[in-house]
Amino acid sequence: MKKKRFVIKVGTSSLTHKNGKLDLERIEKLVRVIANVKNAGHEVVLVSSGAIGAGMGVVGLEERPASTKEKQALAAIGQVGLLAIYDKFFKEYGYNTGQVLLTKFILDEETRYNSARRAFDSMIKYGVVPIVNENDVISTYEIEFGDNDTLSAYVAELVRADLLIVLSDIDGFYDADPRQNKAARIIPIVKKISDEIKSFAGAEGSSRGTGGMKTKLKAADYATRHGIDMVLTNGNSPENIYKIIKGESIGTLFKRK
Ligand code: GLU
Repeated sequence: MKKKRFVIKVGTSSLTHKNGKLDLERIEKLVRVIANVKNAGHEVVLVSSGAIGAGMGVVGLEERPASTKEKQALAAIGQVGLLAIYDKFFKEYGYNTGQVLLTKFILDEETRYNSARRAFDSMIKYGVVPIVNENDVISTYEIEFGDNDTLSAYVAELVRADLLIVLSDIDGFYDADPRQNKAARIIPIVKKISDEIKSFAGAEGSSRGTGGMKTKLKAADYATRHGIDMVLTNGNSPENIYKIIKGESIGTLFKRK
């Protein structure tokens, strides 16, 4: 078996219940699969959203607040519990975690970019699972316009991943919005992000997260332009990760350029 490096991104809707509280069953399933992928000899970096969602659960909010200030506070509150749960589950399966909070503009600066790359390499060498999120408290711009889909593509490039796996609340990339159009079909392989493909990406995602198909496409564009394949699939069944690693066709594969 050839050792591979995977970046796995998981969205808020795959980690939290509708009321914002953490979905422990889903998180544990995901952790178990990642631990097992590592047991098989691969390397994994996890990019996880869910801090704001988890923060909403902590303070008892059902609706995501509109103000940036509120979102930043919720991210700070939620991140602690989110990482505590991840760390607890990973430890049960024999792995330790490291928290990495990044901002996009930091990765645009060479010295910091290199320092982040070295830190990732060291953590991976220690067998630790780096868990990445945006540093939401200081990333005003990222919270308002950004998203972890794009961040995960940056991270995939930063750590020179073999594959980026984006787990969402949708089975793949459709040729129409499946929530509105019953005839919508998944596109199994996207070789080029053409204008037609872009026109299929409707609007936003769930009320608890930030991304939608547009940000998934942006991430796919960034990853594939940097020589990395990206698979978009549903986070409901983290076991799909095994099949993706085996090369089976699950969800949508965006082919690298
Ligand atoms: N960084 C945000 C959080 O952890 C989410 C960003 C996103 O939903 O893409 O809650």
